[in-house]
Amino acid sequence: NSGFCSKSKIYYCLKPFITLPPETANLSVSEYILNLQTTTSETITALIDTSTGHHVLYSEFVKEVEALAASLRTVVGLSKGDVAFVLAPSSVQIAVLYFALLSIGVVISPANPISSKSEISRQLQLSKPVIAFATSATTSKVPSLRYSTILIDSGEFRAMKRSVLGLKRVEVIQSDPAAILYSSGTTGKFKGVVLTHRNLTSIVEGIRAGSRKRVTPAVTLCMAPHFHVYGILYCLKSVALGETAVVMERFDLRMMMKAVEEFKVTHVAVAPPVVVAMMKDEGMTDDYNLRSLEAFSCGGAPLGKELILKFNDRFPNVFLGQAYGLTETTGGISRASSPEDYRLGSTGRLAASCQVKIVDPDTGVALPPCKQGELWAKGPTIMKGYIGDEEGTIGSLDSDGWFKTGDLCYIDNDGFLFVVDRLKELIKYKGYQVAPAELEELLKSHPEIVDAAVIPYPNEEAGQVPMAFVVRRPQSCLDEAQVMDFIAKQVASYKKIRRVSFTNSIPKNAPGKILRKELVKLALSGPNSK
Ligand code: AMP
Repeated sequence: NSGFCSKSKIYYCLKPFITLPPETANLSVSEYILNLQTTTSETITALIDTSTGHHVLYSEFVKEVEALAASLRTVVGLSKGDVAFVLAPSSVQIAVLYFALLSIGVVISPANPISSKSEISRQLQLSKPVIAFATSATTSKVPSLRYSTILIDSGEFRAMKRSVLGLKRVEVIQSDPAAILYSSGTTGKFKGVVLTHRNLTSIVEGIRAGSRKRVTPAVTLCMAPHFHVYGILYCLKSVALGETAVVMERFDLRMMMKAVEEFKVTHVAVAPPVVVAMMKDEGMTDDYNLRSLEAFSCGGAPLGKELILKFNDRFPNVFLGQAYGLTETTGGISRASSPEDYRLGSTGRLAASCQVKIVDPDTGVALPPCKQGELWAKGPTIMKGYIGDEEGTIGSLDSDGWFKTGDLCYIDNDGFLFVVDRLKELIKYKGYQVAPAELEELLKSHPEIVDAAVIPYPNEEAGQVPMAFVVRRPQSCLDEAQVMDFIAKQVASYKKIRRVSFTNSIPKNAPGKILRKELVKLALSGPNSK
């Protein structure tokens, strides 16, 4: 449930505030979670790799984490505070790696494995890692760092997980950084979000406190990749709850259905494009026995009401709830995980320990229920800040600890949160972040482009696609395909520009800020809009 203080105009969760036991103060999030394991959980399967069917029991998982941590510390020489860059698709190995690195105080910094070399070079400038973990397919994109890159699909890595080395405990303080995740923030400038052990522990503990006891462990399948905050969170919380996590390297609808049937998956976490794909291909879902399914959790981007109703109609026994959060808030601000937290179109009620204000973006005044404004959030899951970017940190996090999400939202009289629109300059293609400013810079580096603006264009399958408005040099014959190709060569595929419109000028306000809303209106009213 959510409460509202009419004097301060602050919304808060009515569930008890998450107070972490004092002994967690000197524990890494990894140790804290592993300490929750009981002897009865040892024989439960912790991880299943869908491509090989390989199962890892909790007893093996804990041993592998300890052995890997010892090898990384004593053989490789990693120390507390070092940063490890991770460039690999989701896998069972990544879960073991994250737990091992976090337990010795090494900061994890995973990136999308399809990032281009120039994107990676900017990520490395921000996070300054000393080592990289990659796969044989991604290693060529990683430059040399202080320590040699370790391939997680190699015999060397497997041997490290089996080593019998002892490890002296590394004391990690909860305020220490645990992860640096890449995000574009609210201004569209590329940023490194620093999350602490406390941020991760708090969110995991909030989920744990709110989850019901089960007779048999849940079997989860998280389609959010391991480099995204949701993927990391899932990886941590499934161990904390003693669940069986089914891991798929990449999304494929038929493979996903097959995995649900084969491993009797009970819970699936997805972004909206997966629900879109499922509803488009209803015949295919009939090919599989999906009776084990209990719940779907959908986050990362908005999910249309029609789609929700269609899903409910098709799967009346599966609960479909939305979750809302950002990388900067360690994921959860609100989530609908049970029918009590459910209202059609809402992203549920506030997460435990989360406080929220809905602020008029023009006046800065906090608003009462049912009024739309920018959502500001406060609580133990709010990031430490953006690495090496004091200006960006101060701009988004005020001195009282309120983080400005850049999302236009409202909360109704019963405490349900609704995400209405995005005030910030961010495009979400299939749940992945695309920063318009980054693409605009690249466009303007083309010798025949004088000015450019990139906006989100609605798309059924992807949610949004990047569309460019381009001002060409006089006499230039540059065409749409050439513009798209110029960008496609320089960025990861999800950032590709998929629509182009040529124009004589880009509308801007007096200080020179692009009037994106005007461009969106123009794009939607254009002759080729669909
Ligand atoms: P990320 O940091 O990649 O998780 O992106 C966070 C942004 O995704 C938020 O600021 C929202 O704009 C958007 N978002 C996340 N979850 C939802 C949701 N359930 N509904 C609408 N937008 C969402």
